[in-house]
Order: sequence, then C-alpha cells, then structure tokens
Amino acid sequence: MIRLGLIGFPLEHSYSQYLHERALESAGLEGTYRLWEVPPLPGSREELLVKLSSLREGTIRGINVTIPHKESILPFIDRLTPTARAVGAVNTLFRDPQKDRLIGENTDSPGFWADVRKGWGKEKGGENRRALVLGAGGAARAVIHALITRDWSVTVAARRILQAENIARYFAGHGGAVEACHLSEHVLPGVESCRLIVNATPVGMAPDTNRSPWPPTWERTGAVYDLVYNPPQTEFMRQAEEQGLEARNGSGMLVEQAALAFRCWTGVEPRRSELLEVLHSKAAE
Ligand code: NAP
Repeated sequence: MIRLGLIGFPLEHSYSQYLHERALESAGLEGTYRLWEVPPLPGSREELLVKLSSLREGTIRGINVTIPHKESILPFIDRLTPTARAVGAVNTLFRDPQKDRLIGENTDSPGFWADVRKGWGKEKGGENRRALVLGAGGAARAVIHALITRDWSVTVAARRILQAENIARYFAGHGGAVEACHLSEHVLPGVESCRLIVNATPVGMAPDTNRSPWPPTWERTGAVYDLVYNPPQTEFMRQAEEQGLEARNGSGMLVEQAALAFRCWTGVEPRRSELLEVLHSKAAE
C-alpha cells in the first residue's frame, strides 16, 4: 500500500489528488494520495514534524509540498537534490531508504521547461532570450532556475521590490543574470523586448477570474505563460491573445511536475496524456 499526499494550506482547490490517483491506478499500484492541510509555520511545526517522521519511517512513501511551505520546510530536510538546492525551494519529498534521510526535490522547474518546450519548441526565444517573470515566490524561483540554466536573462517583478531583489541576489550567487523590478503602474524600461512573460503570481486564479497581474501601462510583445491553470484561459492570457500574442496556461506544467514526482516515489513514468485528460475533465465540472 503506497501512501502519498500533499502538504500545504489551503488545499481545497488542489487537483493533485486526482492526478496521482489516476497515476496509481494506471500503474496498477495500490495506494492513496491525501490532502494534508498544514497551516503556515511556526504555529504548525509539530504537525509538520509528524508528517515528516512518517516519511522518514517509511509509512508514507512520498509527499508533495505547496504554498506556504515550499521554502520554509527546507530546514527540516536532510538533503536537497542539485535542482532543489539551486532553486531554493522544494515541492517533492522522499526518503533515501539506505540512509534514512529525507530528500527534497523540485519538479516544478523541469516541469515548467518541459511544458514550454512541448508548447513552443526548443527554439523559443531564438537569439532574444530575455524573459520577464511576475511574482517572486517559490514558483517564480523554479521558473527562473529553468530559464537561467538555459542562458536566458530574467527580470523578476514583484509588488514587494525587496522580495524581487532577494531572488535576484540569490540567483546572482548561482551565476544567473537576474534583475529585480517593482510590479507597479510605473513603466518598466525595456519590458517590450522580453520574448517570454511568465505569470508566477496567483492573480487571475478562480474565484477571482477577472483579474490580471499585468499593469495596463506596460507594453507587451512576448509570448505569455501563465502558471495558473484554473480557469484554463485566464484574464492575462485573454489580454495577450487579444493582442495577437501566444499564450499558454499552467496545466501542462502541473501534469509534468506531478509525473516527475510520481516517478521519484514509484519509479513508474505516468502517461502525460492520461493526466491531462483528468485535469480537463475536472476543469469542465
Ligand atoms: P507564493 O510562494 O505564495 O508566491 C506568490 C507570489 O505572487 C509572491 O511574490 C506574491 O507576493 C505574489 N502575489 C500574490 N498576490 C499578488 C497580487 N495580488 N499582486 C501581485 N503579486 C501577488 O506562491 P507560488 O508557490 O510561487 O505559486 C504562485 C502561483 O503559481 C500559484 O497560483 C500557484 O498555484 C501556481 N503554480 C502553478 C504550478 C503549475 O504546475 N502550474 C506550480 C507551482 C505553482 P507577496 O509575497 O507580496 O504576496
């Protein structure tokens, strides 16, 4: 019996359970995937440690981590994979059975890039590898890591400039070309030359579907990737498409990161088409 689950707060809108239940079923594995709501630290420290002990003892096989724990959980993990260390955030935990150690992985970063390639081909950007990332949380870190390791230069825009500056400093320490700017009405010089614009904020996510993170005073010429997948066409995507720009939502990334996590836990590679089918049917409900 394989016990899997997700730690985060709140979790009521998560689709992860449906994806992993389908992956278990298709692989012919008996198991469960539960949603474990754990409020933010430090108040929930004991609750979090109980779940991590179960993982260490092997009664839980694998854990996904989401908002608000992707970064704050790091001090409780014994070892990070090179990707998780470079990103500075985890979304997948498993146990090294030989050494009884908890290992933290980040599948958001390769998941994002796999979907960008799938959607737009590996030549996206061509000579102009300049991207703008909106938001400076755990998901933004994963996206920035994926981009800078492929020689993109990145501007990260956040409503709290300090948060963007912290990320820029972190990645500069890892050899990345990342600039910070303020996500505000104030016009950003050079924004119109970005080839790719990524929304890594939750703005536009259901139920607030008529909101967009894009300041109306900013010009836009690049393709848009919105990490939000519910609704399937966000307001940000709609605005871009109206302008004749390409736009893609985050459902492919969600599937990719889930498939990579499932492989870490079971060694089985789930079929992406089946997981996408699950997402589409849930979105249509
Ligand atoms: P997070 O760590 O909470 O970071 C969210 C970022 O967005 C922060 O910089 C936050 O700024 C900013 N933000 C929040 N509300 C904002 C607003 N109204 N205006 C401007 N900025 C705002 O969350 P995360 O883990 O990075 O996730 C971000 C989004 O990506 C979520 O919608 C999540 O569901 C999505 N996501 C999708 C996938 C996928 O596979 N498709 C994977 C991971 C995440 P403050 O700190 O100032 O609030």
